[in-house]
Amino acid sequence: MPVNRERFLADFLELVRIPSPSGKEKEVAKVVKKKLEDLGLTVEEDQAHKAFGGEQGNLIVKVHGSVEGAETLFFNAHLDTVVPCEDVKPIVEGDKVRSDGRTILGADNKAGVCVLIEFLRILKEDGINHGPIEIAFTVAEEVGLLGAKHLDYSRISAKVGFVLDSGPPINKVIVQAPSQKNLHAVVKGKAAHAGVSPEKGINAIQLASKAIAAMRIGRIDQETTANIGVIRGGLATNIVPEEVEILGEARSHDPRKLEEQIAHMVTLIESEAQRGGGKADVEITDVYRSFKISEDDPPAKLIKSALAKMGYEPQWEITGGGSDANVFNSQGIKCVVICCGEESPHSPENERLDITSALQSVDLLVNLVTINCQ
Ligand SMILES: [Zn+2]
Repeated sequence: MPVNRERFLADFLELVRIPSPSGKEKEVAKVVKKKLEDLGLTVEEDQAHKAFGGEQGNLIVKVHGSVEGAETLFFNAHLDTVVPCEDVKPIVEGDKVRSDGRTILGADNKAGVCVLIEFLRILKEDGINHGPIEIAFTVAEEVGLLGAKHLDYSRISAKVGFVLDSGPPINKVIVQAPSQKNLHAVVKGKAAHAGVSPEKGINAIQLASKAIAAMRIGRIDQETTANIGVIRGGLATNIVPEEVEILGEARSHDPRKLEEQIAHMVTLIESEAQRGGGKADVEITDVYRSFKISEDDPPAKLIKSALAKMGYEPQWEITGGGSDANVFNSQGIKCVVICCGEESPHSPENERLDITSALQSVDLLVNLVTINCQ
């Protein structure tokens, strides 16, 4: 039986109407779990949320293989969305679905969730032969990949995976993503009355400004970027400011260049603060690690064959953003990111579901598991 457009769309319209901002995925998880259980599947829940104060853990589904000896395949989509996501009013227009412009649509990543549900239905209905399948529906992706970071990996044995979190065309395959580190600095000077005794003060805003003005930021080279995104500090015009907070980030496809860029930013902040008689506390956090899948790696080879069955050549892409795939790759599951039909995510005006490419994505998954056990 071909992929069922009406059924897929009904699932999608139902899920996008359920708000699921990061950390608050309980309601949507309940509905997804029910749909999976209706297919006779067992749905496990891990305790990932306890690590970051969310209300819902990741959902994990395992489907036994009907064929001996085939490689276990891993699939993923995330349950949470960015905001504003309350009271979403989806509008179907031809081959697209959009919101009414007040909220996001949530195709990122409910399109991926619905593609996986429809895929599992087709496997069952059509009695399609496949190897073992492991699926993680993750939570809190949009706020630092927290669900994936705290996923209970003892429950996952797959080493090859596909993350459904990208847009059309169907043959676009993301094989490379950067590492990202975040910077949080507090520059400290000394408070004083700005009119009465400014010479007793050390202006933290000025110390921070000197460091930032001297900093290499923006596009550093083809594979490296850096940004200072937030500065906060000061209390009033008549007080020499004692403290300034600086938030920034750097990304690179080359871990060595990332280290260099971060070191450059930290050194400048520390040295400028010291030079002016103040000090700086700088904290660096790993947001995610880069990955690079080559054309000879199993997920790339499999997706190439699956696309060929549909008459496509893969378009290998490099992205500048992170996704759960970064975390899975660093956990030893070689993953690429593939299309689920989502377009212009995070934009209330422009986010769309492209229905045709979402349905193609279901076909693609069926081809993947079929080729995997031949
Ligand atoms: Zn996403």
